[in-house]
Amino acid sequence: MRSAQPVERTGDVPRRVGNEVSIVLGQRKLLQRFGPGLMHAFIFWGFLVLAPTILIALIGVVDTHATLPWLGHQGWYALLVDVFAVLVLVGVLAELWIRKVQRPRRFEGSHLGEADLILGLIATIASTLLLWHATRIALGLNEWPRAWSPAAHALSHLFGRDEATRVLERVFVWAHVLTILAFLAYLPRSKHLHIGTAAVNVWFGRTGASGRLEPLRFDDEEVPEEEIRFGAGTATDLTWKQVLDTFSCTECGRCQDACPAFATGKALSPKLLMMGLRDQILAQDSSPLVPNAVTDDVVWDCVTCGACVEACPVSIEHVDHIVDLRRHLVMVESSFPAEAEPMLRDVERASNPWGKAQSERADWASELGVRVLEPGDRPPEYLYWVGCASSFDERARRTAESTAKLLNAAGVDFAILGPREACTGDPARRMGNEYVFQAFAEQNVATLNEAGVTKIVANCPHCFNTLANEYPDFGGRYEVIHHSELLSRLVREGKLSPQRSESRSITYHDSCYLARHNDVLGPPRELVSAVGQPVEMKRSGKRTFCCGAGGAHMWMEERGDAINAERVREAAGTGADTLAVACPFCTVMLDDGVQSGGQDLRVLDVATLLAEAIDAG
Ligand code: SF4
Ligand code: SF4
Repeated sequence: MRSAQPVERTGDVPRRVGNEVSIVLGQRKLLQRFGPGLMHAFIFWGFLVLAPTILIALIGVVDTHATLPWLGHQGWYALLVDVFAVLVLVGVLAELWIRKVQRPRRFEGSHLGEADLILGLIATIASTLLLWHATRIALGLNEWPRAWSPAAHALSHLFGRDEATRVLERVFVWAHVLTILAFLAYLPRSKHLHIGTAAVNVWFGRTGASGRLEPLRFDDEEVPEEEIRFGAGTATDLTWKQVLDTFSCTECGRCQDACPAFATGKALSPKLLMMGLRDQILAQDSSPLVPNAVTDDVVWDCVTCGACVEACPVSIEHVDHIVDLRRHLVMVESSFPAEAEPMLRDVERASNPWGKAQSERADWASELGVRVLEPGDRPPEYLYWVGCASSFDERARRTAESTAKLLNAAGVDFAILGPREACTGDPARRMGNEYVFQAFAEQNVATLNEAGVTKIVANCPHCFNTLANEYPDFGGRYEVIHHSELLSRLVREGKLSPQRSESRSITYHDSCYLARHNDVLGPPRELVSAVGQPVEMKRSGKRTFCCGAGGAHMWMEERGDAINAERVREAAGTGADTLAVACPFCTVMLDDGVQSGGQDLRVLDVATLLAEAIDAG
């Protein structure tokens, strides 16, 4: 870790304390899967409660009558120890049952033998503790009422008050202490290293929006030229947080289970990615990470949806690793999927990934009386950031048209930049081309600042994420809201009055960059409820399933099964007649999915649904 690259992860201490309390002590993320999570919580909470018994046993080994001052004499602590020793055993047995009988797919590729050994050691520690206490009760060495140790008391009936029990008392305490020492010696060499690193990794986890990528500092005069990072080519290019991430992985597979790429048969497993990087770091192998730690496919399969990060109980940030690997491949090796090349070229040449002329950017608005902001004009209350997809893609344009009509109808003071709006740089950045992204970030921030913009409404979650979370790194600080937030507020305020259809059944698809990366969950649902009957998919909210477009995948060929087809099947399974979305990329991807799957579903943005419901009224 000392030879790793720097990254800023201090500050925001109250948030970090909160994460320790909820994620580590409260086991919040593990408890999202209640059954296995509770079993892990039993073991973890048991570890905390039983930690002082290590000292008590070490003292007990040398002197049968001595114990830890104060705590060793407390009856209430004896009760806690007794209860938690049993809960640890329950947890271990349940985890063994999950691993051996249920055999969930998330454990594919994990070190299963190592996990069995660790579970065996934990079970030995808990059971020798109970048996030691039982022999002490049988020998009358206990100083508090037997009722304070119900489990050990029940076991004490197995033993008499004789020499054999005196020998067994020694055997159990020695077995207990030696198992603990063996466990401690084995720990740093096993995946259970996470016992020491997980809480530290959670402390240093991100405290801001998960959608923000750390900028590379090309032009920072404080960074010497030889220290400028161009992503991660070898293990020593990783930041210390990324190294700590790999040491913290428990191989639980929760990330793999949530990953749309893995679910559809791609090479990528975020768990195996972490394990591959960790192996290369520990081997002090200075060869390139790609293809030695992970293959090229793995790097390009990711849609940057963040499902892995959301699921990970120890705050590992897989997307940062993947984007850093891409950055090195693109900017140093010039190696990336050939089919993405036209997109990158078009962004640089035409300022949009569609390669259309910027003069056509506001064509959709020509008949709608939308103000196009010219240099020197009075700034509007809201700058409507339309985005490339809603400006140029036929299907996504409907969203822009509907949004503009609705804002006009509600009397909102807004304007668009028209040809002066350029790509935010998001697809280039997620592809790994940080140069291109930063050039667009600086250009757009200059335009927005010069125009005096303070509030932005965006209908594309990718633009929303970039404008709200990434442009502040380049001097662009605005109040950014998503169109679903503004439109739902206008409905609440009575400025828009849709006609609700009782017979229309609508399932809403959460966009990764809106729900998971930016916590916008309620407003699109308010709009859905305002126009029809909502019905939820199983994977919704922050546990949504990607449409397949993120991470610049809109412009890449997909290996394996199609992610959009899987999502459309899930949507159709709800019985809804309409699939509502709040993202132009989701609109295109899911509509493609419906067309190739033949489902009877209309894919519409929430703005279009609202506009239709107002026309109907
Ligand atoms: S960001 Fe999404 S696609 Fe990428 S590894 Fe994580 S879960 Fe898989
Ligand atoms: S990265 Fe996190 S979720 Fe994935 S296997 Fe490791 S600990 Fe589990």
